[in-house]
Amino acid sequence: MNTISMLIGGERVDATGGATFERRNPLDGQVATRAPAATPADAVRAVEAAQKAFPAWAEVGPGERRGLLLKAAAALEAKADAFAQAVASETGGSALWSGFNVHVAAGMLQEAASLTTQISGEVIPSNVPGSLAMAVRQPAGVVLGIAPWNAPVILGVRAIATPLACGNTVVLKGSELSPATHGLIIEALQEAGLPPGVVNFVTNAPADAGAVVEAMVAHPAVRRVNFTGSTRVGRIIGALCAKHLKPAVLELGGKAPLLVLADADLDAAVNGAAFGAFANSGQICMSTERIIVDAAIADAFVEKLAAKARSLPLGDPRQGPVVLGSVVDLGTVERCNALIDDALAKGAKLLCGGKADSTLMPATLLDHVTADMAIYHEESFGPVKGIVRVGGVEAAIACANDNPFGLSAAVFSRDIAKAWNVARRIQSGICHINAPTVHDEAQMPFGGVKESGYGHFGGRAGIDSFTDLRWITVQTTERHYPF
Ligand code: NAD
Repeated sequence: MNTISMLIGGERVDATGGATFERRNPLDGQVATRAPAATPADAVRAVEAAQKAFPAWAEVGPGERRGLLLKAAAALEAKADAFAQAVASETGGSALWSGFNVHVAAGMLQEAASLTTQISGEVIPSNVPGSLAMAVRQPAGVVLGIAPWNAPVILGVRAIATPLACGNTVVLKGSELSPATHGLIIEALQEAGLPPGVVNFVTNAPADAGAVVEAMVAHPAVRRVNFTGSTRVGRIIGALCAKHLKPAVLELGGKAPLLVLADADLDAAVNGAAFGAFANSGQICMSTERIIVDAAIADAFVEKLAAKARSLPLGDPRQGPVVLGSVVDLGTVERCNALIDDALAKGAKLLCGGKADSTLMPATLLDHVTADMAIYHEESFGPVKGIVRVGGVEAAIACANDNPFGLSAAVFSRDIAKAWNVARRIQSGICHINAPTVHDEAQMPFGGVKESGYGHFGGRAGIDSFTDLRWITVQTTERHYPF
């Protein structure tokens, strides 16, 4: 069992009164982690520690910030085994998934390090004679990052890496489902030698999330909020941020379509669909949730995809390598079972997998999914995915856009010009041609549209999200006034 602390002002601390909560392993119910259950007052202390550290950190030169972030990337990579243990015990994720997380997250810290020297401004011609007018980016202040459990290393690091690179101080609110995994990120940053108070870490019992988050968002020192999680909670956070006039980056749910056009390379499409649908048991915001196939090639495609899905190893990730480990909880099993029941009752055909009675859920594909089925619209966030057969390109695009979400998408076709024009018409923040819906790189503008949220992480777009753009002028000659 992992027992963890919070980090406030460089000190490892417990919650007021020593209150704790437990995270249990989804497979055997054993306590995986005991973590502090912060009160709103504890959370405010974390914000105030970040506030105190901000003026000095904002003045640290880019070379020094870069060096610290590179050290943090190395420290994170050195913890790969500890991450694998924490991910398997807290959320049931495979070693493959944990390793991928550490690799991408280390890249995010390296990219953030390189951004420290890219926070540039511009000189803008002024109408006032002798006025040197500049647009200047400055750190905003304290940034609150709220991260989920599903890609815990990537999303925990993403919540704080670019904000730190831009000269902000941060508070990471860990997920109740992966507190030790998020705690390891904080350890890596601490080992790198970031000054006390620059990074702070708060954990809370599930029932306290609303109060703890509200206390921090309301605090005047918090100047930016970023949240990765469900659209349901994203709406709450968005409304809270609006009330307090705090800009927010909201990275929310998805229902990514993968379009297989009639001229697609079927093997490439099968491999992309299987990876996108079943990596981390389909519990990724970019997971392929709707496989939209031209009816002309659907039979051949479906046969190959079902064969591939059936071959994917499933098991307890603590016992050996698997592709599908445990899903995060029985709630996921119930949600996915209900989606299967509903689809089958309305005429869908089960190609492989099926309902589960434990958190070890097989790769499941439902063919002939139609718009009257819940799985057509709702995020399964599990290894249960629907196939919709359509007639032609226009129908495929219409189907792709027939959804409130808009995070990622993919189009498979041998005709790249056609695929490009399809991609342009899909309502999503991200779209990959002849590549899976699941893809992340630290330097890319990651973000969704519609109910998948707003704002961006990644590269220069991340700098825009986590700095204040200021207009500063220098009057270099005598200024003339009308009176
Ligand atoms: P969730 O929204 O249930 O929880 C995320 C966080 O919200 C937790 O830290 C929790 O403490 C906090 N929270 C819960 N209730 C709150 C409240 N009332 N007020 C304030 N904060 C509250 O999400 P989850 O189930 O952990 O993650 C899965 C969801 O996240 C899926 O919908 C998935 O698509 C989405 N997701 C999106 C992205 C992206 O980049 N767009 C990435 C990963 C996951």
